[in-house]
Amino acid sequence: MKLKKILLALLLVVIFSIHKVHAMTEYVLPNINEVEASQTHLDSEQLLELLPKNADSNDPFLALVNPLNPANIQKPVDLITSNEGIPYAASIEKELNQLLQAGEESGYHFTIISGYRTSNQQADLESTRKQSLLASGYSEAEASHLTNLYTAPANATEHMTGLAIDILGQDWTTIGGGLTEHYSEVGSAQWLANYAANYGFILRYPREKTEVTTFNFEPWHFRYVGKEHAQFMMKHGLALEEYLALIYERDKQLEMEKMSQIADKQAVLKAREWLEEQSKVINDLFETIPPKK
Ligand SMILES: [Zn+2]
Repeated sequence: MKLKKILLALLLVVIFSIHKVHAMTEYVLPNINEVEASQTHLDSEQLLELLPKNADSNDPFLALVNPLNPANIQKPVDLITSNEGIPYAASIEKELNQLLQAGEESGYHFTIISGYRTSNQQADLESTRKQSLLASGYSEAEASHLTNLYTAPANATEHMTGLAIDILGQDWTTIGGGLTEHYSEVGSAQWLANYAANYGFILRYPREKTEVTTFNFEPWHFRYVGKEHAQFMMKHGLALEEYLALIYERDKQLEMEKMSQIADKQAVLKAREWLEEQSKVINDLFETIPPKK
């Protein structure tokens, strides 16, 4: 009867812990074994040791919106407008201005092409891009495929967060350049790729991470995540999806550790209880034996 109670208590602890771990994992993320530090080539265990302690999956600056994790609810975003009239999240105003200022000081003048977009605007953009591909003679399937490579479906673009900006340098726009991979060949794009992390921005869709992000290389799309996180991702060569996978893995390991400590403690208590009971039984036994005369 007693054993049954103990087993039931342990079962409840296990169920509770699984539920808790499960509740934390709200994003669909790459498997921890697939996380690849393209720059430092460290494995996930080494990365976990170096992971910034304050990295928190609930940090609004680390919010993930992608085709696997669409934002089904448009959260209200406090907006501000750039000099070009482009809206973006007011929470990144200071850092974005610092980035633009540092660019100026290095001889690069930038234009913000796009910032915050609502889900409806994204749906319009998706359809406009597809229509223009169809008009250029692509088949329905080809047009859909090409559109999806660069344009997220409605609800699946992180432009909805206001934390993402599309940005081009004057050295590119003055020669008629647009949002194409070739932008990466000019000085302003290389400057952004090298220095944006110092201001908390990451090159969100790098060339070597297309399988993780499901987006083609976009040398113009930058995303604010915060300086420490941006620098970590850049240094090691990690996509936001991989960074979040590391955070979840760390939290899972911590939770498991806590649970096993609780289980250990309970096992020790039970063992002590059992020993006390046994010694009582033995004492009682001795008491019933009549003393030698
Ligand atoms: Zn973009």
